[in-house]
Amino acid sequence: MKVDFYKHQLGDEEKQIVVEALSKPILTTGEYSERAEILIKEYTGSCAAVALDSCTAALQLGLTAVGVGPGDEVITTPMTFLASSNAILQTGAKPVFVDVLPESGLISPERVEAAVTSKTKAILPVHLYGNMCDMRALRNIADRHSIFIIEDAAHCIEGERDGCKVGELGDAAALSFYATKNICCGEGGMLISRNQVLANQVRAISCHGITKTLADRYGTSYQHWDMERFGWKYNLDNIRASLLIPQIGKLDARQTEREKLCQRYEASFANASDLGFPKKPKNSRSGRHLQTVWVPESIRDQVIRRLQETNIGVAVNYRSVTQLSWYKENFNFKDGDFPIAEEIGNRTLTLPLYPGLTEQEQDYVIDNLTRIVNTETSL
Ligand SMILES: *Cc1c(COP(=O)(O)O)cnc(C)c1O
Repeated sequence: MKVDFYKHQLGDEEKQIVVEALSKPILTTGEYSERAEILIKEYTGSCAAVALDSCTAALQLGLTAVGVGPGDEVITTPMTFLASSNAILQTGAKPVFVDVLPESGLISPERVEAAVTSKTKAILPVHLYGNMCDMRALRNIADRHSIFIIEDAAHCIEGERDGCKVGELGDAAALSFYATKNICCGEGGMLISRNQVLANQVRAISCHGITKTLADRYGTSYQHWDMERFGWKYNLDNIRASLLIPQIGKLDARQTEREKLCQRYEASFANASDLGFPKKPKNSRSGRHLQTVWVPESIRDQVIRRLQETNIGVAVNYRSVTQLSWYKENFNFKDGDFPIAEEIGNRTLTLPLYPGLTEQEQDYVIDNLTRIVNTETSL
């Protein structure tokens, strides 16, 4: 048997709509990116959405729109994909890392509060694996210190915790439609917000700060355009946006499938003394983006190799960002600075998880993982 790490779910509906998009005169931002924005607004209950070409861009522009720039600090987590903190660096601000909670790997609100200084302008929490951070606690901290929250919701369009959805308590949230995410279009992202003014600003700086839309510049009544502020070039084209449209309606059904698979995985780990996993917070709905498992640090890399030898796709999400060479060199981080994130980073590996993964395939993964871990720990 062979079990792939990831399989996208693009099918006939997506092929049909992308062909339709290709037959239209406007291939860049337009009708299809607008339709994707409307559907995502409906799904998340946000009042504003801006389609962009990555989640990294959405994070950068969200931070920029709330005024984050050189000299500012943004508090974030080291247990994430490096895009979260790279987006902070792209604004010229400094990422300030705080350690995570041992049971979930999510950012610790207490440590966030302790890290606030007069330079802190924002918090960038990451809803890791689809599990939502304690947004009520973070909102409370942000309000008391008059700082902003930009959520990294790359794993978690579907998330809800304590009655609040993704993007509801943050000033904005960034979604990813990268190739392996819950819905995907190759490369793509979106900023959602309950603040229309903030979203308008993001839209303006997502395309060079140009004052007129494409329709205004190329329509039948030409209008001179201007540049009133500096901007980047991060808008999402109709071709990729079209692929998102049929997928948005399938988000809930796919989340349900992944939820079932995750519960099966977790039930099987419960009996194994050397297998741990991050716990979904109480009172929450998880995006269930990734199924990670924690094995003893001394055997982690060997377990990965042995799983690969049995044709099972695996990955590592993530080693602590603070242990990556560039960050170590530029921030002088040492091993032990973020002990919990580092421990998770040294013990974690990610198993196949996607709608369509069969129970037989999943059993093959579980059986091999259990066998390999038992063998390696008894050596
Ligand atoms: C994938 C990912 C991103 C970046 O998404 P892009 O769309 O590739 O920019 C950011 N944060 C996390 C946690 C991710 O997994």
